[in-house]
Amino acid sequence: MGSDAASRSDLPDGHVVPRFAGISTFARLPHTRDLTDVDVAVIGLPFDGGTSYRPGARFGPQSIRAVSTLLRGFNPVQSVEPFSELRVVDWGDAATSPVSIEDAFGAIEDAVGTVLAANVFPLLLGGDHSVSLPVLRTLAAKYGPVGLVHFDAHPDTWDVHFGRKYTHATPFRRAIEEGVLDGRRYVQIGIRGSLPKRSDLDDARALGVTILSADDVYRMGIEATLGRICEVATGSVYVSVDVDVCDPAFAPGTGTPEVGGFTSREMLAMVRGLAPLELVGFDVVEVSPPYDHGEITAILAANLAYELLSSLVGRLAPQGRGDGGRPAV
Ligand code: MN
Ligand code: MN
Repeated sequence: MGSDAASRSDLPDGHVVPRFAGISTFARLPHTRDLTDVDVAVIGLPFDGGTSYRPGARFGPQSIRAVSTLLRGFNPVQSVEPFSELRVVDWGDAATSPVSIEDAFGAIEDAVGTVLAANVFPLLLGGDHSVSLPVLRTLAAKYGPVGLVHFDAHPDTWDVHFGRKYTHATPFRRAIEEGVLDGRRYVQIGIRGSLPKRSDLDDARALGVTILSADDVYRMGIEATLGRICEVATGSVYVSVDVDVCDPAFAPGTGTPEVGGFTSREMLAMVRGLAPLELVGFDVVEVSPPYDHGEITAILAANLAYELLSSLVGRLAPQGRGDGGRPAV
């Protein structure tokens, strides 16, 4: 390993300085924009100007950070210490304008572009789902068109919402149109609930998208679902988790809740199972703290991010990044 600047060992002992003390960064990691010898940067994308129903996801990053201070160093299920084996920092937030979606997208592209230019893996905290489009643009500039593992109750591949092209219901159709997302390497998991039109899912499939509905997953089981995901999402792959993929019992604090979704445990297992993929970025979006209860949804989001970080240890730590970036040390 290189510099220990971002390693867990520099952080206050949770049994000396209580975890609720101090200023909340993600998992109490150092807040810095120095990307020297960094593997993963956590970036907040506090924007909800693409929301169509309940607002509030602009407060998602600060809510996730606040509860993430309880994340501890050792993940016993994956048998890794993500904050020691990886160098992880909290980069802070993109400066997303609340009154211009174009300006907000520009700020997200700037932030994620800065991190990617340093060969650092971006771990993103939304924000509504519109934020994934500028992230995909930035990833494609580095890797070419990417594949996508998209957990959501909703396909988010509609054409327009309220007569507008850029909303939280349309990012992935735009991404395919822009050539930054390969529809044939794109799988949606957890789709369910009532839809505006009978043709909505066929419209998504016409883009090449593979849809595994919530019922499909219950019928197939987690292992078979992961197998299908790995068949579709080849090459460089982005992972996007809309927390509404979980049931409102497990994720009440979100903009567009749908009953009949996954449990927290099922989502943890699915995120954990993505380790074999060539992951190039991750987001967890649509946490809306004003509708949360007991911080249920923020805690879920923080732990999904932690599980994904743990899955990256095998990819980023021993061999260095697969993109020819900084060599292993
Ligand atoms: Mn979504
Ligand atoms: Mn959704």
